[in-house]
Amino acid sequence: MASSIQNESEFGPHSYYRDSAGPVAVYPRAAGQMECDVCVVGGGFTGLSTALHLAEAGYSVVLLEAERIGWGASGRNGGQVINGYAKDICEVARQLGPEQSRCLWELSLEATQLLGDTIVRHGIDAEYQSGHLLAAVRPHHMTGLAVEQDALAGLGYTRSRLLDRDQVKAHVRSSRYHGGLLDEGGGHLHPLKYARGLAAAGARAGVRIFEKSRVLKIHPANGNGTGFALAVTEQGAVSARHLVLCCNAYLGALEPELRARIMPVGTYVIATEPLGGERALGLLPDNSCVSDTNFVLDYFRLSADWRLLFGGRVSYTTLPPAGLARRMRDRLVVVFPQLGEVAVTHAWGGFVDISRNRLPDVGRRPGNVYYAQGFSGHGVALTGLAGKVIGDAIRGDAEKFDVFARIPHQSFPGGPLLRMPLLILATLYSRLQDII
Ligand SMILES: Cc1cc2nc3c(=O)[nH]c(=O)nc-3n(C[C@H](O)[C@H](O)[C@H](O)COP(=O)(O)OP(=O)(O)OC[C@H]3O[C@@H](n4cnc5c(N)ncnc54)[C@H](O)[C@@H]3O)c2cc1C
Repeated sequence: MASSIQNESEFGPHSYYRDSAGPVAVYPRAAGQMECDVCVVGGGFTGLSTALHLAEAGYSVVLLEAERIGWGASGRNGGQVINGYAKDICEVARQLGPEQSRCLWELSLEATQLLGDTIVRHGIDAEYQSGHLLAAVRPHHMTGLAVEQDALAGLGYTRSRLLDRDQVKAHVRSSRYHGGLLDEGGGHLHPLKYARGLAAAGARAGVRIFEKSRVLKIHPANGNGTGFALAVTEQGAVSARHLVLCCNAYLGALEPELRARIMPVGTYVIATEPLGGERALGLLPDNSCVSDTNFVLDYFRLSADWRLLFGGRVSYTTLPPAGLARRMRDRLVVVFPQLGEVAVTHAWGGFVDISRNRLPDVGRRPGNVYYAQGFSGHGVALTGLAGKVIGDAIRGDAEKFDVFARIPHQSFPGGPLLRMPLLILATLYSRLQDII
């Protein structure tokens, strides 16, 4: 075991991604007074995409990251590029009606398309592979997948198909699954390489990127009588016509009302030793990534050097779970008993920012403050689009931004003290349904 999530350095956890992302560009600390059109807070996919799109449109942009580029969820995640949202599209339609759910589905397709285009346009070596499989853990989960497939077909989507128990084995060599929904429009990538590639593209477009530059306080525009919003860091301040908060689960106390609408939930990933191409493709023959239909789900994929990256579990504390690598490995062996002897080289974790309705929370606050959060574990593709639509809204075209901004969001009940215990209770109930 080379590392654990206790082993966090200033570059984030000692993850497989950190070890395989190649040389890292280091950006300076923000110091003194700066002025710009847009100040972006947070250097994950959302902030990097916002900054890149606005700089390309000719805006002067400052990006302030508290730690390092990709330090948050963007540099730690499962790398799965999934169409749609954390709630299936039928549920989105039940919540928001057919018209808005259709718009949201189309925006999610735009998000995966944008991700692919961005990788190509900026020459990012993100190791993209196509294919995502949603694998059914219980026989009755197939009913839900069939309904979802019908809904997708009804929306005119032609790249997904339902697989039965025999067919699913051509994609995942595990006896655990009763079938699945394969989406050729999904895929997977190396998230830290992608984040660093976005930062490099932003810097080339003129974004002034600062690391180790935590924003301690924000003052919305008009509050200070200048028409400029202000982001205050330890060693200076940035005045900007617009502020964009892209802090995800790591927002902390910067904006209490936004913070109350998301819950940080820990999720974890392990990397095996390299398995060799033949053995690795013996597990996932078409190199699609897989997530399962459980509430507390397993998600896994192959890396470019033929490791199995296996994610799952959840935790509601900020403490690393005891025996993480061993416990994750036990889960992996349930799915792939043929890996009983395999060594685990890395284990790490991070926080997803779940919203109450599990849909993204994108909007505008008084005083020219925009924000995007609440991707609920489905942010690899959607974050890029969220950044773009925020950029478009700042430029005066809020049509797509408004589709997101119209989604109603609520705070988690219970206030700061009780919201976590209440969420744990709700999760235990859903977890029970995974088991029965
Ligand atoms: C282990 C794990 C697995 C996941 N797997 C998947 C997956 O397979 N597919 C998928 O679609 N999604 C997945 N997700 C979710 C996905 O990673 C996120 O939705 C996405 O990365 C969010 O990007 P972001 O830019 O909004 O936030 P982040 O990447 O978390 O970035 C926020 C940044 O803001 C910075 N910040 C916070 N406060 C301040 C401040 N005051 N001043 C300056 N900077 C600040 C933080 O340091 C951080 O770098 C996973 C998440 C985790 C943790």
